[in-house]
Amino acid sequence: MHIIEMSSEAVPFAKTGGLADVVGALPKPMARAGQKISLFMPLYRSVREAASSLTDTSIRVHVPLAGVAETGEIWTSKLPGADVNVFFVGHKEFFDRDGLYGNSAGDFHDNSRRFIFFTRAVLEAAKSLPAPVDIIHCHDWQTALAPVYARTLYANAFAGARTVLTLHNLSFQGIFWHWDMNLAGLPWELFDWKHLEFFGKMNFLKGGIVFADALTTVSPRYSIEIQTPEFGCGLEGVLAERRDRLHGILNGIDEDVWSPERDSKIPAHFSVSDLSGKRACKAQLQKRTGLPERNVPVFGMISRLTEQKGVDLLLGALPALLEDDVQVVILGSGDSKLQGLLQEFARRFAGKLSLTVAFDDRLAHEIEAGADMFLMPSRFEPCGLNQMYSLRYGTVPIVRETGGLADTVVDCTEDTMQRRTATGFRFIPCTVEAFLGAIHRSLTVYRRPDQWNRLRENGMKQKFGWDTSAARYIELFRHLLEG
Ligand code: ADP
Repeated sequence: MHIIEMSSEAVPFAKTGGLADVVGALPKPMARAGQKISLFMPLYRSVREAASSLTDTSIRVHVPLAGVAETGEIWTSKLPGADVNVFFVGHKEFFDRDGLYGNSAGDFHDNSRRFIFFTRAVLEAAKSLPAPVDIIHCHDWQTALAPVYARTLYANAFAGARTVLTLHNLSFQGIFWHWDMNLAGLPWELFDWKHLEFFGKMNFLKGGIVFADALTTVSPRYSIEIQTPEFGCGLEGVLAERRDRLHGILNGIDEDVWSPERDSKIPAHFSVSDLSGKRACKAQLQKRTGLPERNVPVFGMISRLTEQKGVDLLLGALPALLEDDVQVVILGSGDSKLQGLLQEFARRFAGKLSLTVAFDDRLAHEIEAGADMFLMPSRFEPCGLNQMYSLRYGTVPIVRETGGLADTVVDCTEDTMQRRTATGFRFIPCTVEAFLGAIHRSLTVYRRPDQWNRLRENGMKQKFGWDTSAARYIELFRHLLEG
């Protein structure tokens, strides 16, 4: 199969979140399995800095935007460590700036124009590739119009191709004013409640959901949750209508980067059969974060500081948690109000609570390796990566039972301990009490070393590599082409 992957970000070229990890990792096992992958993304300013070699293909594509022809330059490079061609769509005005979607002043005002251009430019370029396209795989709102185009303006060019849209987070939909239908060059008949219209505006993600041949989410549980008003962000009805085409495929983790046996960013290595290095990692984490080097349980958290991640629950739980003889290490950035509240706590509980407000990849690795427990009280979590990293590093996750967290962490009960399936602690109600309940259960087990060791061992033995997920994508693509 020839698969076009189109995304607004991909590791190692540009990243703001989990989307980049997925799109940077998924093509590798698919290529190893013999598929031909062409990955397309914008040529941001940061790409010029991150890509080791960039070649101009001299292909130029022309996209009409409300009567003005805009030209895209197609540059190319390879995805590191894989036989995958990456194509970058260059356009000075749209992509040669700091930031991917916005800056400290907010979202860029021309995001609609930028991503309509990018999506059409990819389709124009794909037409000129020597191998015919079998699958067009797009991700999130930025490229969600691709399935709409493939069945309208580009119906002839891609008659034999099938389209797949992966939903990484329903809370970002690409909602713009209705006149952007003109910018997109799409027929006004599509501006109705059954297609692209959403409360009087144009909704890119809705268009993709309606037109794609298949939809995927990044965990099975999230694929069910988003069909309900609580998680569907207004699109639950459209998603429920298309549920026969909606599949949940769990993300993997890149074990070249995240494994305690060979992580280059941690002070000592360890494995399920020899955990001595983890003690050194804990001591180093305490030292680095200014906490006393004592043999007490250390709770870690690495997060965007947003409501989604349950930071309010954390704030509610901290005073009671810190009454115990424990330490808490938090790394995060985001909402300035939540940041301020956490800073107040850090001052009040100095010596027990360490807070680092930054995006610090090395410290993230050190926390995963050095902490005993990991806190993830998310309100919703499409997949979540940190709980999977925690399991790999013998850091027992305490999670809210939602989305990918529910799919990857097995609650510790008498029964699951006996069956050796327990890997962490889960709570359901979105309340401080429920969160504290799970925390206290973890402390009880922590104080029984035999049980604690078994729990950690169960988690470390979990397999979260990308091969299984890639095989499921390939199976889905094949099924679409045969159907
Ligand atoms: P989301 O994509 O919703 O932010 P995920 O758990 O899927 O959440 O992935 C977040 C990724 O970003 C993880 O690899 C996590 O370690 C990393 N991360 C989040 N915040 C920080 C931070 N402040 N510093 C370093 N890494 C961070």
